[in-house]
Amino acid sequence: MVAMRLIAANWKMNKTISETEEYIKNFIPLVKDINDREILLCPPFTSLQVAGELLKDTNIKLGAQNCFYEKKGAFTGEISLDMIKETGASYVIVGHSERRHIFGEDDELINKKVTAVLEAGLRPILCVGEKLEERNSGITFKVVETQLKIGLSGIEEYIDRIDIAYEPVWAIGTGVPATPEDAKEVHSFIREMLKKLNPDAKGDSRILYGGSVKPENASEFMKYEEINGLLVGTASLDPDSFSKIVKSF
Ligand code: PEP
Repeated sequence: MVAMRLIAANWKMNKTISETEEYIKNFIPLVKDINDREILLCPPFTSLQVAGELLKDTNIKLGAQNCFYEKKGAFTGEISLDMIKETGASYVIVGHSERRHIFGEDDELINKKVTAVLEAGLRPILCVGEKLEERNSGITFKVVETQLKIGLSGIEEYIDRIDIAYEPVWAIGTGVPATPEDAKEVHSFIREMLKKLNPDAKGDSRILYGGSVKPENASEFMKYEEINGLLVGTASLDPDSFSKIVKSF
């Protein structure tokens, strides 16, 4: 039985500390009565602390967009999970397609990060998804299977503590979403893969869809029971727009 559905905002490299404060002050009242779904904001690292303070005692959770897997040391420019945890964050997005394709993160590195997030007691959201040429050559399932197998290698027993985001690379930030039917098909495949990787899991992982979700199309995805939530980039940058997505179903 899948836990509460999860609607997550990935702000990417957007918003200063003061912009974060302004957003959150506007956003809190818009969603204050919602308790039947989880709401998550993932601001940039520099905004985590102020966001954590403002979100304390609200119905909105906080997450980071990335992390490094080592605990501390000579890793210039990296951010550890202890640093993230102290801000009040409880989620970490791992393996976002921009991390994979702009910063060259591979499945092995992503696996180390997912493992470290679990060890820190936080909840990872592992992102998977195919590129356009992969979809066009009919290997979407193969690509997603490899990303899941390697990404979850050695931590299969903890699958219930991990959420997955299916984000076709060609749909991210392009304004061209997958059709809800195509997304649903891949979500069913991911659910089957999770069962194969851990037949004893309870099925608590949420499988989110991400890629050009907007207030106008969110409910089309959420009408399918295979789609347990959304990961939203561009349309989460405005509190009104994101609150409409949160309330769209
Ligand atoms: C994302 O960054 O995870 C994303 C889905 O972006 P967008 O909603 O802009 O496509």
